[in-house]
Amino acid sequence: MTLVSGTAAVLYATNNNITRLLKEELLVSERIFLTLLNDNSAQLKNRAEILADDFAFKNAVATNERDTVISVLANHANRINADMVLLVSKNKDIEVTSHNLSPMVKKLRERLDPNKSVDLLVISNSQPFLVVFVPVKTPDLIGWVGLGFSINQSLLDHLKGLTNQDITLIYQTTLNSENNTISTLKGNVQSKPNVSVDINQYIKEMIKILSNGGQITRSFQLLKEENQQIIGILSSSIDEAMRSYNPMRIQMVLIGLISLAFAAIGAFLISKGVTRPINYLVKSAKRISNGDYSQPVHLSSSQEFNVLGSTLELMQQTVHEREGRIKHQSRHDMLTQLPNRYSIFSTINNRIAEKTANMQFGLGLLNIDNLPSLTDMYGSEFSDQLLKKVAERLSHSLRRGDIASRIGDMQFLIFFDGMSHSGIDKVADKLVKLIQQPINTNTITVNLEPSLGFVLCPQHGGIFDDLLRRAQIALQKCSAPKRFYSVYEIGQDEIHLRQIKVTHRLQYAIKNRSFQLYYQPKYDLKKGEINQLEALIRWTDTELGPMYPDEFIMLAEHSGDITKISSIVLDMVLEQLMSWRNNEQQLAISINLSGVDIAKKEFITDLISRFNETGLDSKLLVIEITETVMMVDLETSLSNLEKLKAAGFSISVDDFGTGFSSLSQLKVLPAAELKIDKSLILSLDESQSDQLIVRSTIEMGHHLGLRIVAEGVENIESAILLNNMGCDAIQGYYLAKAMPVIALEDWLKNPPDQLKTLRSPTFNC
Ligand code: C2E
Ligand code: CA
Ligand code: CA
Repeated sequence: MTLVSGTAAVLYATNNNITRLLKEELLVSERIFLTLLNDNSAQLKNRAEILADDFAFKNAVATNERDTVISVLANHANRINADMVLLVSKNKDIEVTSHNLSPMVKKLRERLDPNKSVDLLVISNSQPFLVVFVPVKTPDLIGWVGLGFSINQSLLDHLKGLTNQDITLIYQTTLNSENNTISTLKGNVQSKPNVSVDINQYIKEMIKILSNGGQITRSFQLLKEENQQIIGILSSSIDEAMRSYNPMRIQMVLIGLISLAFAAIGAFLISKGVTRPINYLVKSAKRISNGDYSQPVHLSSSQEFNVLGSTLELMQQTVHEREGRIKHQSRHDMLTQLPNRYSIFSTINNRIAEKTANMQFGLGLLNIDNLPSLTDMYGSEFSDQLLKKVAERLSHSLRRGDIASRIGDMQFLIFFDGMSHSGIDKVADKLVKLIQQPINTNTITVNLEPSLGFVLCPQHGGIFDDLLRRAQIALQKCSAPKRFYSVYEIGQDEIHLRQIKVTHRLQYAIKNRSFQLYYQPKYDLKKGEINQLEALIRWTDTELGPMYPDEFIMLAEHSGDITKISSIVLDMVLEQLMSWRNNEQQLAISINLSGVDIAKKEFITDLISRFNETGLDSKLLVIEITETVMMVDLETSLSNLEKLKAAGFSISVDDFGTGFSSLSQLKVLPAAELKIDKSLILSLDESQSDQLIVRSTIEMGHHLGLRIVAEGVENIESAILLNNMGCDAIQGYYLAKAMPVIALEDWLKNPPDQLKTLRSPTFNC
């Protein structure tokens, strides 16, 4: 009796166990599905953050350059395989989008957070998407960028591949609309309920169909909104699961029967010895069904029960392995098998949370710069191979305790335990050489171009997000001037944020034309008079206070706004020249144009025609340029300069003596004037070498037929030296600083003593 009930108990426990196991596996599958969504959204979040942090992108958003925004978004989405992209304005209006999202505008407005990223499930074009929204800041909020992936058949197939269970998603685009389904189930889909019934009814009928088909099911709600719903049904065939345990069940029944025969012979003798192993097996089965795989199933007694025991042991191992595999996949990058962003994030956070007294580590953010072009050329399968190779090289080269992870399409984050400042150079050299080694595939050999941004903890930050952002800034610094690695410098984050803020505020200044022009006089040493002024821009921002051109002009050149500024300056200068047109002696004004302006045909044509409309003498406008004009687009720039010259304007080469300027390069430019940079003039009276350079520049300039102006003249001694060297004109604080037009008019009427000194006979002898 004990034997029969014991065997039945084992069989029952096993059956029960299988059903429970299936139910549990459905629960695990639900978790994996959610992890899969989370994983994908974390990757998108990372990419969206990179995009939201990209200087050019922020500029384009801040300056409302719709075309640039669209093209950057499209390129980015393409590169990272995002299925949906959008840009939301800071007023929460959808500015740019790849999909129709009108049904979700209300929800979007409620959920968007200016301080953190949010995930939203949405349905568009009858397809569910998971979209990650990341705030774009300058540091004021200027909008959100959204990247999404579609929850489609291939994602469900992927889940099935992981769990071997079927998944069906049922969703309604709008309230009471037809039910849409995507599913890994094949046959059942044909016999699914009528699409137009109420969604809850639909789910009930679907579950009934599946149960009748011998499936065990689990449903879960993925999205429930007023007007949109997504429900998932996970299912698994009981028969199929039982089938794999059938040999074991047959074995058990056989063993039971044999044991029964023996029991008839010596029930009393055996009873004690049998109940113990059966009890043990029942207990083991229960333990396994509770998910405890810690103990082996091992019986020391009779052979038959050993067979039963080892079958259970095998079952335990299989289940254990499967769970292990699933856990591994949730923390690793599927392609390279390196830890993923989540995993490295928690490793680093744990390390920071330990708060050990001498915590010290470094992070290296590795980017493969030429991967996008290699992908364009050879396809994504090929670039996947390259990424695997990089991962392999990294894994083999790292020391114990260091961890390489893949956190973005082209980016790897490497954790270097104990790394300090002095260790960076060596590690960086080693890594760069390692990644640069040519990769031979069957068909071609390619060379990867790595760049690395390093940060140190605790020196550069104490939380993961700060460290990653600063590593990103260090990485960006590798591009200009080009170098393979760079280390974050304290303060760069703030500079970066300040630059973005300035660029952003500059938009308002341009829109409202809130610039002033200051004028600085130039004194003609040969004629002994003031005959020219330089227009220098000033801007006082309501938030940032007084701003100097040395800071914002360069940023405007980067963002492409410079020409709008130059155009405003031109307007103001023309207006000024017009207002002085009836003056007895009219002063010429020089304006500073950027290399970007000179390379633009339309701007130059426009400048000439606007000037001509005034009817003024073209001698009244001087164009100051620096030699960097040669760098933008040499051919167009030269032809534009020729046009300016032909229109009668003088061209003056500014900042001569800095950088790579040389007299031989000057010959190419149609210049009439040369301005020696203030760096050579400021201490001219004290520096013999500056005197030597300035003297020879004046002589050689004159040989080339150029008029020479010295800027930055701060004292009479330098003015005398320059006069003796034959310099044609001087400009500088000795004479006057740049000033607003009212002050200038006053200054001209009541010349200061310095001007009198310059005009005195003693100065000229
Ligand atoms: P720049 O064209 O070389 O202008 C001369 C700069 O030197 C001016 O600074 C002027 O105030 C300063 N300066 C003049 N004399 C002296 C002196 O004796 N000692 C010293 N220490 N400085 C002197 P500012 O106005 O801050 O302009 C800086 C630069 O910004 C300019 O250098 C020019 O490159 C750019 N910039 C100014 N206005 C404009 C503009 O309207 N358009 C463009 N594209 N650039 C401009
Ligand atoms: Ca200038
Ligand atoms: Ca200058």
